[in-house]
Amino acid sequence: MKVNLKKAPQREILEIERSGEWGKVDYRHRLTCGHVEIRKRPSSAPKIACSWCVVAEEKQQELQLLSNPVRSSARLPQAWTEEEAEVPYIDADGETDLESSKLRAGLVLALGCSPESVEVITEVDENGDLSARYVVVFMDIVVAKRLARFDSDTPI
Ligand SMILES: [Zn+2]
Repeated sequence: MKVNLKKAPQREILEIERSGEWGKVDYRHRLTCGHVEIRKRPSSAPKIACSWCVVAEEKQQELQLLSNPVRSSARLPQAWTEEEAEVPYIDADGETDLESSKLRAGLVLALGCSPESVEVITEVDENGDLSARYVVVFMDIVVAKRLARFDSDTPI
């Protein structure tokens, strides 16, 4: 997903924090909306466009789609994956990976499905922290029928 900064609302900068090692320094602009915009240079303007507000709004729309069972079918997982690659800033967070693997392992055990069929969706919250938000399980029909205790003898 490409964040369109022209669409992004202008937010006042609360503070600018320098981060990173020499040679790859960037500037974290903490904004009034609670988001942090990373820029290569400190902004001289009092306000900058917040791409996170755009992302947040679009995620909201995705979540609304998700709660609609008819439209949520196959397209969401791909959309999320593409989006994650382009999100402007993500804290590398080993704990989230661990949390995701534990979740995945637990679900594989509980459901008897394959690890590849469990997708843990992580999301960046207002503090810029990555955390697991929900889980999508692509269940093959054998597993689904077993869980549903569905067999040819079951009257429909
Ligand atoms: Zn924002």
